[in-house]
Amino acid sequence: MRTGKQRLLVRPVVPAFRWANHVQKLIEGVHQFRKDAFGNYRTLFHKLSQDGQNPHTLFITCSDSRVLAELITQSKPGDLFVVKNVGNIVPPANVTGSTNSTAAAIEFAVTALHVSDIVVCGHSQCGAMAGLLGASPMTDATPHLRDWLSLAAPVFDLVARQYAHIASASARLDLAAAENVLFGLDNLYSYPCVQDALARGTLRLHGWFFKIATAELFAYDPETRQFLPLLKENKD
Ligand SMILES: [Zn+2]
Repeated sequence: MRTGKQRLLVRPVVPAFRWANHVQKLIEGVHQFRKDAFGNYRTLFHKLSQDGQNPHTLFITCSDSRVLAELITQSKPGDLFVVKNVGNIVPPANVTGSTNSTAAAIEFAVTALHVSDIVVCGHSQCGAMAGLLGASPMTDATPHLRDWLSLAAPVFDLVARQYAHIASASARLDLAAAENVLFGLDNLYSYPCVQDALARGTLRLHGWFFKIATAELFAYDPETRQFLPLLKENKD
């Protein structure tokens, strides 16, 4: 694929041997996929290239490298429209501009792709939540990160108010991640396109929590107001 402009795409600021190792691994993975795994998906990819995508679910989760939406749900290409951002934060609809690219994905998924479900999936040991709670101090070197995390300031306030008695820092961290999922669900209601689809009965919202160590998934149950183990037969 040739483009009109020549650009310096990468600057090798890491030691050359390290650079070579990691990128070489990616390149080998690409070739291995084409050689081994692609055969199982050839028909599906061909169909998706002909028909376009028709994902059933918008899956909003954290950029964390340990949280892989397709892997943990065993989804196939074309199944999920995935948004990964730092801390799986869903900003309110009135936040516009560069801090709300997630909103663009929500609007596209709901109005153009007509997804039937939106999952907001937080996870244990979330570095973004640690940053929010002050475990990783924000500096002037990370202005975008600071501003992005500030969108979830209500979660910080809530954790400080309701969970101050919990001594364990890791327990508080996971509670913050769970509360951040509920914050995201609340904010989804602020999007007119989401409101319309909910009113028509064509959209459902789900709050999930992924425990990294055991790969367990928990779903928020509005009746008991708890995250309960995700049942095989989900009734909602
Ligand atoms: Zn995270």
